[in-house]
Amino acid sequence: MMSPSYQSLVKKLQRANTLGSVIGLMGWDEQVNLPSGSGKRRAEQMAILAELYHNLATDASIEPLLQELEATELTSDEQVVVRHARKEYDRLTKLPAAFVTEKAVLESQAYHAWAEAREKSDFTHFAPYLEKQLKMANEEAAFLGYQQNAYDYHIDRHDPGMTSAAIEGLFSELKKDLIPLVRQILDSPIKARIDFFKGFPVESQESFLKEVTTRLGFDYTRGRIDVALHPFCAGDAADTRMTTRFHEDNPLDSLFSSVHETGHGLYEQGLLVEALGTALGEAVGMGIHESQSRLWENQVARGKAFWKYHEPKLRESFPSQLEGVTSDDLYLAINAVTLNPIRVDSDEVTYNLHIILRFELEKRLFSQELKVADLPNAWKELSKEIVGLTPEKDAEGVLQDVHWSGGAFGYFPSYCLGNMIGAQLWYTALEALPNLESDFAQGDFSRLLKWLRSNIHCHGKRYDTGELVKKVTGAEISPAYLIRYLKERYLPLYCG
Ligand code: ZN
Repeated sequence: MMSPSYQSLVKKLQRANTLGSVIGLMGWDEQVNLPSGSGKRRAEQMAILAELYHNLATDASIEPLLQELEATELTSDEQVVVRHARKEYDRLTKLPAAFVTEKAVLESQAYHAWAEAREKSDFTHFAPYLEKQLKMANEEAAFLGYQQNAYDYHIDRHDPGMTSAAIEGLFSELKKDLIPLVRQILDSPIKARIDFFKGFPVESQESFLKEVTTRLGFDYTRGRIDVALHPFCAGDAADTRMTTRFHEDNPLDSLFSSVHETGHGLYEQGLLVEALGTALGEAVGMGIHESQSRLWENQVARGKAFWKYHEPKLRESFPSQLEGVTSDDLYLAINAVTLNPIRVDSDEVTYNLHIILRFELEKRLFSQELKVADLPNAWKELSKEIVGLTPEKDAEGVLQDVHWSGGAFGYFPSYCLGNMIGAQLWYTALEALPNLESDFAQGDFSRLLKWLRSNIHCHGKRYDTGELVKKVTGAEISPAYLIRYLKERYLPLYCG
């Protein structure tokens, strides 16, 4: 029997969460619909909403409720909810309201400055905003007691329990095996043909990707997909908003970014709707979120079994465009490996090198080894060393990603962490579900989704990142599974 105090706490958490979902919707609208001249008005709207949210989430009546519940015997579900409510309440009450409002205004302004800077490939236009974001990121960490290691605070916010040192350990182990593997694949005389990706009408692309994402299990009665500059997935279990983008000469970009966002969307839709607003209805963190998107995008949708079913459908949708293209050509194009300066256009093999680059730069920005003004040059030098190329202009280098404009530092490592965890979950699922890939060849993905629902999605925040991985796979997070997967998929294709 739930105590009145527990019910009262949950009600307060849910009210704040519902208002938070409105803020999320406004953020989605800003990237999908907002007219270019309306940014200032939106910044004002967001600032007021952020202030109201802060007031609800930091309501003084929450503290005595938490204290009372912490001294009471609770069920394990209640313990999870109270533990996370305490963590979040402490985080929010230590941030002054004026700081929160200022940050919300900055986020909106910095986003528009970044978009303009990227269009003109002019870093100096964005630099003052990045400087300010970095300053506020350090201040925020200090408010929360991280005076010395601000970067760790931001990493922990995205992946509970992770630190800069832990990530450095995983990345250096990964780098050791990955760089030679990338070289081996790039040195292969076998190159993917992508010249046939010309004139794929946007409307047909859109209906093909709707079919694919529906088949994977995305529920369009409580979610949608729209067009934005940068693909993302927002919302929650009750209303999940995905975005993609279309190019007539690059149909795989919209398809795979949609499948990726569908992986995020399936996780959100798999969280318990009735637990919305509490930790039991929320994702663990970004690393686990990314493991879901990567698993569906890479292990599933770039695999032979997936295409056994979908290739005929693709040919039906684009008969003239794919005339004379063999199945082998198509499969190699889907698994093309090339060096690209743009992270989001990179294949899953070289992608991780882009993340290691960003992690190195963020680490140096926070330790003040690197100044914002020197960032474009540092990017170019380090890109040459780690990724293996130098971007020609800042729009293809330091200005390519939206994250820093929103003050999202410590976020990039989650992508690579997600790749590692995704591969680790994949091998666990293959063992648990015999002949899984023969289902895929029939267009049936339900067994995998069900397994993810009951092993990952249904738990909400019950376990931290590392704990959940250990519980499901029986092992600590390790780059070994990702390396194994990349070798098994790419060496037969390129170095057969
Ligand atoms: Zn993602």
